[in-house]
Amino acid sequence: MSTEKTRPGSGEAEAAVRRLLDWMGENPDRPGLAATPARVARSLARLTDRDGTNLEDLLAEGIFPAEGSGLVLIRDVEFYSLCEHHLLPFFGRCHVAYLPAESILGFSRIPRLVNHFARRLQVQERLTRQIAETLEEAVQPQGVACIIEAFHLCMAMRGVEKQQAVAVTSNYRGVFDSDPARRRELGDLLKARGNFCF
Ligand code: ZN
Repeated sequence: MSTEKTRPGSGEAEAAVRRLLDWMGENPDRPGLAATPARVARSLARLTDRDGTNLEDLLAEGIFPAEGSGLVLIRDVEFYSLCEHHLLPFFGRCHVAYLPAESILGFSRIPRLVNHFARRLQVQERLTRQIAETLEEAVQPQGVACIIEAFHLCMAMRGVEKQQAVAVTSNYRGVFDSDPARRRELGDLLKARGNFCF
C-alpha cells in the first residue's frame, strides 16, 4: 500500500503562498512576512507527512501472536488533521479498540496508525474508516471499533461559527457491529475516565 508521492521542490509552494499573501492584501516583502512562504511550505509538508514510514512496515513489525487477550482499547489518542474542504485544522481524540483473534498489534503502533492517516487532507468520516479498516486488515481480529471526537476550526471560525460543537464519528466492524453487548462493553470502558492509577 505505497501511497507516497514525490513532492515537487518547496519553491513552487513558496511562490503560491506569496500569491496568497498578495491576494489577502498583504505585502509579501514586508519584514514580518519575508520568511512566511518558506515557513508555511515547511509547516504544510509536516502536516501532510505520512509519519515518514511506510504503512506496511509500520504494521508488519508490530504484529505478535495473541495470548488469550480480551478487548484491547487505546483511548484518547490525540490527533491533528486538516479538513480537505477548507484546509483548516480539525483535531481531537481518537479511540481505537479491537477484539483479537490470532494476532495483536503493539500498543504504540495504534497512535502511529492514527498519525499516518491524520497527517494529510482528510474528512473525519474517512479518517475513522481508514483507521478501522487498516487495523482489521493487519490483525484480522474478531472486531474493530474506531470512534473520533473532533473540533473543526472550519465550523468554529467560519460557516456556522459554532465554537462548542464536537463532531463524533464511529466505525464498527465484526463483533462490534453485530453484538450490542460488545459495543456496550466498549462504551463502558470509554466512560470510565478519570480512574487512572498514576
Ligand atoms: Zn472544513
